[in-house]
Amino acid sequence: MEELKVMIVDDAAFMRKTLRAIIENIGHQVIAEAENGVEAIRLFKLLQPDLITMDITMPEMDGISAVKEIKAISSDIKIIMCSAMGQRALIIEALQAGANDFIVKPFHSDRIAHAIEDLMSR
Ligand SMILES: [Mg+2]
Repeated sequence: MEELKVMIVDDAAFMRKTLRAIIENIGHQVIAEAENGVEAIRLFKLLQPDLITMDITMPEMDGISAVKEIKAISSDIKIIMCSAMGQRALIIEALQAGANDFIVKPFHSDRIAHAIEDLMSR
């Protein structure tokens, strides 16, 4: 698989660090990290990543609102929600907002790798 430019969005520094390690380990490049939805939209416009991992609960702007705005700008961008909140209602809301997949924390690197491969081969 080609190397993808990935942006990680999560308000927890530890989660961003964990995701960065997993994503770099499977051969992709992390080009940006954002800690809320507002920052995510700004950096998305500036850097145009191929793929975004998106937390849900964040200050300033939550991940579901950010997905709606980003997908309105580019429907092609692939977004994987990564959230501790695994409730069915939130998963459905995220997918309705345009998210392409959903991973519940704590996640395993194999699950992330599989989700990315699956999305990019669609
Ligand atoms: Mg959070």
